Amino acid sequence: MKNIEDNDREPQSKSDKLILVAGAGGFIGGNLVKYFLAKGFTRIRAVDKKPFAQWYLRFPEVENLSLDCSVEEACKSACRDATEVYNLAADMGGMGFIERFRVECLRSILINTHLIEAASAEGVQRYFFASSACVYNTLLQQDPNVRALKESDAYPAMAERGYGWEKLISEMFCQEYWAERGLKTFIARFHNVYGPYGTWDGGREKAPAAICRKVVEAIDHGSREIAIWGDGSQTRSFMYIADCVKGIDMIVHSDELIATPINLGSSEIVTINELVSKVEAIADVQLRRKYDLSAPRGVAGRNSDNTFIRRVLNWEPNTTLEVGLKETYQWIQEQYTKRKQGQLVVA
Ligand code: NAD
Repeated sequence: MKNIEDNDREPQSKSDKLILVAGAGGFIGGNLVKYFLAKGFTRIRAVDKKPFAQWYLRFPEVENLSLDCSVEEACKSACRDATEVYNLAADMGGMGFIERFRVECLRSILINTHLIEAASAEGVQRYFFASSACVYNTLLQQDPNVRALKESDAYPAMAERGYGWEKLISEMFCQEYWAERGLKTFIARFHNVYGPYGTWDGGREKAPAAICRKVVEAIDHGSREIAIWGDGSQTRSFMYIADCVKGIDMIVHSDELIATPINLGSSEIVTINELVSKVEAIADVQLRRKYDLSAPRGVAGRNSDNTFIRRVLNWEPNTTLEVGLKETYQWIQEQYTKRKQGQLVVA
């Protein structure tokens, strides 16, 4: 089986190929730009609606544009001459955000709608869409001892309201652009991504970053107490960012996966209580736990079934939580300290 096209790996094609990363000011988009730069790609266009100063990762050597990709004209400019397009742009956040701001989540449909049309019109060769485990039928996720979700579990559809439905319909756009227009599209369903250079404060952060920050705060304030959303028994799996960007690259260069949604997530399942214990161990502290039962908690359980990705790519995300959380905790601790010292940091 041939997963990665040889010509995509040759230095010659690297310098010629113009890669567009939409959402490059965000967590995964920024880390994807970093990944391609490290691989030697020289023609990268990074686009985000945020002002450049607010991007998590900033690389002056790439073409950086502040553009709103929910606008048709902006997508046309963004896709001009591009060979590959990676759509990581969305209005999103953790449970606290997606349960409260469903309209904002749904409106991300505009981004993919205009971007994929512009990519198709521009003759882009490969188009990537960042989907989510939130497309899965919520009725299958009512128990913490849930069975892992496999790709076919998205239908019959009963996705997460707002955010999940937007992802599901955008997946369908990708599939139909391939079927009717011949655009090679690739769709990964991410399961909770975490790591350095992502949201860690302000309301959009996800559980791993939120827990790291709360532990840093509890130590700093001397409160020795941590607030946990729900009763802590919810189960999840969390994928480290390095696995995420590597997985995106492998998926986009596997022709077996054209227009075929695939899980991109870790299968190391933990309860939120266990996640807190792991961060406490890293910080060498033990905190009193206060459970906030009125806070958003999302589905009771969710894990990634990696049978399909193992078969197609002979690989799956494999960074352990111990390793990934250590990097994440250190980075958040640094950001926290810098902010406290009055330095400008992006949270
Ligand atoms: P993020 O919020 O850090 O990054 C998204 C970026 O998109 C932000 O910088 C934002 O400014 C930008 N953006 C929003 N609207 C835009 C617009 N109209 N035009 C241009 N840029 C715009 O989020 P992330 O964690 O990096 O997520 C990237 C993608 O992966 C999103 O599609 C998200 O839904 C998906 N995803 C992420 C996770 C996760 O755990 N992080 C899980 C599942 C799916």
